[in-house]
Amino acid sequence: MNPTSTPQEPSFRDSVDLMFERAAALMDLPQGLREKIRICNATYTVRFGVRLRGEIHTFTGYRSVHSEHREPVKGGIRFAPAVDQDEVEALAALMTYKCALVEVPFGGSKGGLAIDPRQWDEDELERITRRFAYELIKRDLINPSQNVPAPDMGTGEREMAWIADQYRRMHTTDINADACVTGKPRSRGGISGRVEATGRGVQYSTQCFFREARDVEEAGLSQGLGGKRVVIQGLGNVGYHAAKFLSEEDGCRIVGIGERDGAIFREDGFSIEEVRAHLIETGGVKGFPGAAYVENGALALEADCDILIPAALEGVVTHANADKVKARLIVEAANGPLTAAADDMLRKKGVAIIPDMYANAGGVTVSYFEWVKNLSHIRFGRMQRRREEANSAMLIKSLEQMTGQAFPAELTERFLSGSSEIDLVRSGLDDTMRGAYGDMRELWRRREDVPDLRTAAYMIAIGRVADSYASLGI
Ligand code: GLU
Repeated sequence: MNPTSTPQEPSFRDSVDLMFERAAALMDLPQGLREKIRICNATYTVRFGVRLRGEIHTFTGYRSVHSEHREPVKGGIRFAPAVDQDEVEALAALMTYKCALVEVPFGGSKGGLAIDPRQWDEDELERITRRFAYELIKRDLINPSQNVPAPDMGTGEREMAWIADQYRRMHTTDINADACVTGKPRSRGGISGRVEATGRGVQYSTQCFFREARDVEEAGLSQGLGGKRVVIQGLGNVGYHAAKFLSEEDGCRIVGIGERDGAIFREDGFSIEEVRAHLIETGGVKGFPGAAYVENGALALEADCDILIPAALEGVVTHANADKVKARLIVEAANGPLTAAADDMLRKKGVAIIPDMYANAGGVTVSYFEWVKNLSHIRFGRMQRRREEANSAMLIKSLEQMTGQAFPAELTERFLSGSSEIDLVRSGLDDTMRGAYGDMRELWRRREDVPDLRTAAYMIAIGRVADSYASLGI
């Protein structure tokens, strides 16, 4: 047991392992293989100094490789003060299972730097990031064919651009250098739709749940996503995009938002753009006009709503507050927001949970598309788009000639336009999310001993990793 675990409350890493074991117990796997899949292969710790503000500051960073059954291994790099080896290893394990579940052909990895990025200015952060990247690149822990990082908490396009540039400086003749990291800005080899991808995936996964009348009914919800009352905890990149799409496109009402400085509530729903603008301007949600405010942001988790979307840190719903959760559906946009203890309690209460390894897999799915784009050196849709348009135009003309009637004007433009990169990315992501929901659900409904979607997700992921070890002769 991990030293930070208590009998009541397992640590994040123990929670992931417990969930793994619960699923593995329902499978027919040799003990040795089960152990091989569960354990983390290696974690590299680096301590490096950077001269800043007239003195040397020492930073500690990690890159953990959980499983190399497929390469490259994949997973974000997080910048946060509480980053430590256990956290990075738990997150790397989740990456392995996540990739396997959504059929993204990567092993699992994760990196972290123990730093509060808000304490440093942009120049300083660039020097720190480049130095960290240098340490990882020289050990092939960043490499297009071996280990490909991406954004995570506290990092984004800017940091990925620095990392890619650092790699290029150290591998000047590598034609695939762009593929060493994903989540880059569009102008530096990134792909349209990567920034919104995790939030978009949360939206698609929620839509998948609501397409299944029985799942909705058993959770005690009325049919249809439109009008559902949603609470979001954490309005960072993932929470913001999920809330934006669910409210603007699916007709959900965002009735509560939890942030670092407190939580705000409004029964008739928030405009996410307005809250986001307030957050950027003031640094918090406090003082947002026309909203009820409480200082304890964690109270958002206990608010009255239909759907709760924890989109910030791991371990926010524990045995201490799980009983107070009122939502009938929890969509885990963050990694590991529920401890294993909370997960048990909520399942017994009949709360439906769309598990993290599925709900937040949109990010790595679109990362995969970006990596493929970088290796193929061509933007998606570049070859087909105009050809598709010409074909559609010809079809319209033929229909008009055959029927003697004009094609409906309001449909012409939509029908005529060929697929752009963002259309293809969204289509690929939607297809991925639908496919994975179908796989999880089929197993969950077929076997009575599979209690929930999370267990089904783990079983599918473990089965796929086991299959690839078998084909490697391990
Ligand atoms: N950090 C994201 C995650 O936890 C994305 C990882 C990636 O794109 O490689 O899934």
